[in-house]
Parts: sequence; structure tokens; C-alpha cells
Amino acid sequence: MGYDARKAKKEAEKLNQEVAKLLGKFQRTIDWDFSWKANRTHGKCVHVGGSRYKILISKSLAEESDVRNTVLHELCHAYAPTGSGHGPNWKAIADKVGNAFGENITRVSSKKHDADSRKPFAELECPVCGHVYKLWKRTSYAYKDSSRCWCSHCGKERSYGKLIKRVLR
Ligand SMILES: [Zn+2]
Ligand SMILES: [Zn+2]
Repeated sequence: MGYDARKAKKEAEKLNQEVAKLLGKFQRTIDWDFSWKANRTHGKCVHVGGSRYKILISKSLAEESDVRNTVLHELCHAYAPTGSGHGPNWKAIADKVGNAFGENITRVSSKKHDADSRKPFAELECPVCGHVYKLWKRTSYAYKDSSRCWCSHCGKERSYGKLIKRVLR
């Protein structure tokens, strides 16, 4: 409620102008998408080619809270050299932008979205052999119906329905 994607895009584009000016760089052409269906990641910046970028902002984040921090974080990716990731080149830009806009953009996202995207959200452990199966998708059969799974090392007879499910995030 009260969330207006058009207004959010206008504000994001204004931030883009201000960031370009602050960094003294040629303004990037950004295709904004505030309807990205991502729950675990707040935003994403994709280099389309030349000075064109696509920035996706999670729809659920946009509806729930202020996206300014995430928008600035992703803009820093667009202005950092290609392939910088969250390395020193990106961080130098993020520090400068963060200071100017009064937002801490290096901490929140760099840790959260990267750490989260590398971590499985759940795991199944076989109590017989101790093998741990990592689960990456909430929609997976192994997650939804874990009571009907078994360990491929120990076989159905010994481990059917015994796997221990742990939700990690
Ligand atoms: Zn990032
Ligand atoms: Zn096993």
C-alpha cells in the first residue's frame, strides 16, 4: 500500500544523476525494474553493454521498506569497473557515495546478499551415515516432502523417512 513503482523509478533515476555527478563519471543508462521476484536478494545490477545497465530491485523489499539504500548499493555496481564485485574498487565508490548520501551501503548488502546467496537455505542430514544434503530451493521435493526421502548412500531400507531437516535461513 502506498507504494508507487513509477515514483520509485523517478527517485532512483534522480539518485543515478546525483551519483554520476558526485563521482565525476559519465552517467550510466539504467533500465530500472522494481518488480523483481526475489525474496532473499534485495537488488541486482546487470551490465547490459557499454554504459547500459539493468538494475533489479526486489518487489517485496520495495513494497515493505525504503529502497534508497539498495538503489545506491546497486548504482555503485554500475559505476564500478566491470567485475569488481564487492572488492576494493567497488568499496571505494560505495564509501564515497554512502558518505555523501548518509547511508551505509557497504555493510548491509555486501554481507547479506552475498552470504545468503551462497548458503543453502536448508539441509537434510542422514542419521545413519551422517551425510548432509544441501537444499537450495524451497520448492524442491526434498524440502516439502522430506519425510518421504531417503539417503542415497544408505539406501531406502535403512534411511527412509529418517533424514533430519534443518532450516538454515
Ligand atoms: Zn552488491
Ligand atoms: Zn546415509
